[in-house]
Amino acid sequence: MKVVKFGGTSVANAEQISKIVKIVTADADRRIVVVSAPGKRNKADTKVTDLLIALANTVIAGKDFETDLMAVVNRYAEIQRDLKLPEAVIKTIEADLRGRIKGRGKNDAQFMDAMKAAGEDCAARAIAEAFTKAGFPAKYVNPGEAGMLLSDDFGNAQVLDESYPKLAALKNIKEIVIFPGFFGVTKAGDVATFPRGGSDITGAILAAAVKADVYENFTDVDSVCSMDPRIIENPPAIDCMTYREMRELSYAGFGVFHDEAIIPAVQANIPICIKNTNNPAAPGTMVVPKRAPSERTVVGISSAPGFCAVYIDKYMMNREIGFGRRLLQILEDEKISFEHTPSGIDNMSVILASANLPAAREEKVVARIKAELKPDAVLVEHGLALIMVVGEGMHYAVGMAAKATQAMSAAGVNLEMINQGASEISMMFAVKDADREKALRALGKAFFGI
Ligand code: ASP
Repeated sequence: MKVVKFGGTSVANAEQISKIVKIVTADADRRIVVVSAPGKRNKADTKVTDLLIALANTVIAGKDFETDLMAVVNRYAEIQRDLKLPEAVIKTIEADLRGRIKGRGKNDAQFMDAMKAAGEDCAARAIAEAFTKAGFPAKYVNPGEAGMLLSDDFGNAQVLDESYPKLAALKNIKEIVIFPGFFGVTKAGDVATFPRGGSDITGAILAAAVKADVYENFTDVDSVCSMDPRIIENPPAIDCMTYREMRELSYAGFGVFHDEAIIPAVQANIPICIKNTNNPAAPGTMVVPKRAPSERTVVGISSAPGFCAVYIDKYMMNREIGFGRRLLQILEDEKISFEHTPSGIDNMSVILASANLPAAREEKVVARIKAELKPDAVLVEHGLALIMVVGEGMHYAVGMAAKATQAMSAAGVNLEMINQGASEISMMFAVKDADREKALRALGKAFFGI
């Protein structure tokens, strides 16, 4: 059995929805279909979720909301008309939206979630109709009724463990299940949503709950690229990577999906396949628990700007018991999470996301380091980018670090920091933001010959 998830661009209009019907019915194993809300039809378009957020804000502000409401209804009306679905479909959707507005309680965060969830919910109802009309019995399933129980952190909810045994029953449904992504209900019965992009989470939860053989995630790319195609032209596609490789790559800027979104599937050891709705014949990218060693030691190279480093020097630091703990305690007290801590005998550095160290906090942290750790020097450097060179077994392959550093040095890139060894499957380099592209080009050439 396969759980199949379609993202916003895959449900953006009637043409895309017709592709979904074809893709799902071409494989009898594709039994559970998770759908997003209609996304952008073109670059200038607005996602239905964003239209719904605007509508909810207008309602909360006490302003006239008819225009905003009709902007949402019209997106579905276009789909209904182009798919030649019964008129009743659009009437139900409009009534549903008005009902949500009327039923607004005192909690704005909860109201916002109820409105956002409508995007996926209405899409799933319309898509179930599209399957039925094409002659394939399909059933819209309401997440609340199916047992998708979430914590009551509105807008950032998490699935409760007790959901899994309930959701397992979905595999007994005879028809094709059309399940809206992105939301569930709290124990109190209120609709709550995952963070944005959360339909991926729904898909991963259902795949784990029914113990699917594969979780297929349909999007609008043929496969995951080994480097960012916005920076490097025509990078090679990744045909297969492990969960760990995916995690390290998405940590530093791989945007295919949020690594946290797939945790339920990862914990249940379910292979994930990323495929293209617009080119379903392409094999896509498999993300698996383990992969056989392949010729390609390095599977991908990712990068992200916006980091800073706090460097601390102190002669004989290696003899001072508790130095590292006290340094990290200062960060903990200030509620700052850190990314890496490369260290030497007389120095230690901590790499943080710059967003976590605004000027006022930086001043406080530096003052505390000076007062409590009595270092010889402390320095904060902003404007760093992290580059991750990722591949299973890289740690054991000879010459990988040399290859990377030689390539970057030949390109005139100054390495601010290297972290190799802590992870078996990646090397981390910090470079100045301004050198990021140059470094990536050099690495692309060295590892992928591009
Ligand atoms: N529609 C939601 C969003 O735009 C969830 C999703 O598409 O996954 O964030």
